[in-house]
Amino acid sequence: MEKIRHVLGISGGKDSAALAIYMFENYPQLELDYYTCDTGKELQETYDLIDNLENYLGKKIALQKGTKNSPELPFDHFLKIYGGYLPSSMARWCTKKLKLEPFEDYVGNDPVVSYVGIRGDEEREGYISRKSNIQSIFPFRKNIWSEDVIVKALANANIPNLINYLSEIDTNNKKERFEELLLQPLTGSHNQQTKMNLLLDTDIKVFNRLIFRFLKTTDYPLSKVDEFPLIENDQILVRADIFKLLEKSGVGIPAYYKPIEFEVNGKKATYARSRSGCFFCFFQQKIEWVWLFEQHNDLFLKALEYEKDGYTWSEEPLAELMKPERILKIKEDYIKRSEKNNKTKKSSYLLDILSDSEGEGCAACFI
Ligand code: SF4
Repeated sequence: MEKIRHVLGISGGKDSAALAIYMFENYPQLELDYYTCDTGKELQETYDLIDNLENYLGKKIALQKGTKNSPELPFDHFLKIYGGYLPSSMARWCTKKLKLEPFEDYVGNDPVVSYVGIRGDEEREGYISRKSNIQSIFPFRKNIWSEDVIVKALANANIPNLINYLSEIDTNNKKERFEELLLQPLTGSHNQQTKMNLLLDTDIKVFNRLIFRFLKTTDYPLSKVDEFPLIENDQILVRADIFKLLEKSGVGIPAYYKPIEFEVNGKKATYARSRSGCFFCFFQQKIEWVWLFEQHNDLFLKALEYEKDGYTWSEEPLAELMKPERILKIKEDYIKRSEKNNKTKKSSYLLDILSDSEGEGCAACFI
């Protein structure tokens, strides 16, 4: 059997840190390599988290940089190449140059399984490499497989093969039900998601065994191994589990998530940063820029310095956002939004209020 590598990227966010702990505790036999792609512009709290994790894992987290021999920090190096053009959600050269390409360089051409910490309560899909030697696995989700694998496995043309595989795997006495579900072809009204959920709801482990058997007929990295312990895992981990894992292990919750109290017009509220990533990340919400201004003023001023030649991090230039009357208004709006969220009981988590669009953004930077 060919040897495959197992790698896990630490973004500096809570979910990837929790995944490292989870894998270390539950799958010590997998010999994971941990890495992080450093933009040179992360918050100190992120570097502290990486130190804590290294101590916990007893293993170095390999530091990857998008630049090899540049005297400049990776972000600044590429900013020059891009002529001072700041990245944005529409032009995310930073993710490509500072996260994805260093990751693909790091794994080279080895067959690699990459573990991604997208949680069971999230809708977003993780990054799927275009390189065929990299296969993503999502241990926290009900469906641990990547979208590309599911598309191929559940294709109508593959139904007869899946039916045949049922007699080769342990079906927990659910062969008939699986047959019945597998025989229903994908149609406009019975889509892939529906079919997959019905199969997973019948038995996660049997579904996993079936997909693992299917992979044997492909070139995916997992086709090269006899065993893969995660197929026998039917745990689903959601946000609360992530916080528990971080606290129980002693690694701790990244310090920038810690709510800090402020007061406006006699009303008290708390703010924090909702994600890891560069301190100037354009995915930040306005209240997070205010947090940066008040809690890391030096970094806010550095972010401000980058805004020149007409390029800004968001539609509102930081020079405007930092005006006292603007800060006051942002805080007032934020309090109103939090109160509304509390009333509709949307979520009591500060992180949810801050980032009710957590699905948006960069899977490579914020997991
Ligand atoms: S954290 Fe934001 S600015 Fe930094 S690389 Fe990711 S998307 Fe770009």
